[in-house]
Amino acid sequence: ATPTAVMVATGVGANNGVLIKGGDALERAQTVKYVIFDKTGTLTQGKATVTTAKVFTGMDRGEFLTLVASAEASSEHPLAKAIVEYARHFHFFDESSATTGTQNDVKESKAGWLFDVSDFSALPGRGVQCFLDGKRILVGNRKLMVENGINIPTQVENFVVELEESAKTGILVAYDDKLTGVLGVADPLKREASVVIEGLQKMGVRPVMVTGDNTRTAQAVAKEHVLITLDYCDFKAVLLSVSLQHLVGIEDVRAEVMPAGKAEVVRSFQEDGSIVAMVGDGINDSPALAAADVGMAIGAGTDIAIEAADYVLMRNNLEDVIIAIEISRKTFSPIR
Ligand code: ADP
Ligand code: MG
Repeated sequence: ATPTAVMVATGVGANNGVLIKGGDALERAQTVKYVIFDKTGTLTQGKATVTTAKVFTGMDRGEFLTLVASAEASSEHPLAKAIVEYARHFHFFDESSATTGTQNDVKESKAGWLFDVSDFSALPGRGVQCFLDGKRILVGNRKLMVENGINIPTQVENFVVELEESAKTGILVAYDDKLTGVLGVADPLKREASVVIEGLQKMGVRPVMVTGDNTRTAQAVAKEHVLITLDYCDFKAVLLSVSLQHLVGIEDVRAEVMPAGKAEVVRSFQEDGSIVAMVGDGINDSPALAAADVGMAIGAGTDIAIEAADYVLMRNNLEDVIIAIEISRKTFSPIR
């Protein structure tokens, strides 16, 4: 392609909210064989919400939620934010607190309701640890519990499995080294996810999912149905709405990948010379975005991810992955 063609392609991209940082990446995108998607915040909306909280000991529910929120308050993780938000609502808005306050009042008194925990540490790919009056609080996944010698009773394990099978992430809580409760967090898929996956497959590109989340949740998300609603007017101009379930058919799922491991996954797909694209939003996606032949960052993602990528998808819409590949194909092999 001529420099003019590259310039035109860059302009077409920009008009679609696809920022292309260089001609090399633009050229490589045409031959992409695998597109590796990060799960959280890339395939999913990144709006995690707590759907369940269950206490397995005699601890009071409000106390349990405040305890977990206190441990997560210093974490930047989306799961942590969801937990703090849920606990805050329980604290200020549940029936017994008979609140008359506004959201603003709540914000001002935010720090006041949390327990004063000490020695906080974030454990990447696992969760968080801190202490309250010398007693340890652990909030995170199974790996975190197992590594710290916390016994997971069968009843708790069964509950977590149930959550995972319905595409939720189970977060375990240990207080004073005893398994105390579990929270279930849901993060719905982006509406366009299923159509984009199918579109890529039709283009001969193989979609892959990579995540730090557990295998069962990841598998459930990869096979989830997205509700697609089509609105149209019939000949009498009556608005009709048709909803259909559409399957997200990602077959290749790499789960329980530690933050440093995502770049390794990219390299493993490159081993036979295949051209690999990585789509991600998080800090822990940036090494993988840099390692990929074509790194695509979600515009709403972290600055570090955007910096590491060759493409920035400003609309936060996964359809732009297809647009990016199409622009490259049209620019470099217009006969196709
Ligand atoms: P990803 O961004 O790919 O979903 P992460 O490496 O950030 O993965 O997290 C992987 C897993 O580690 C999460 O699914 C969760 O189980 C656990 N985890 C990480 N940080 C936290 C946290 N602050 N609180 C609870 N669990 C956490
Ligand atoms: Mg992510």
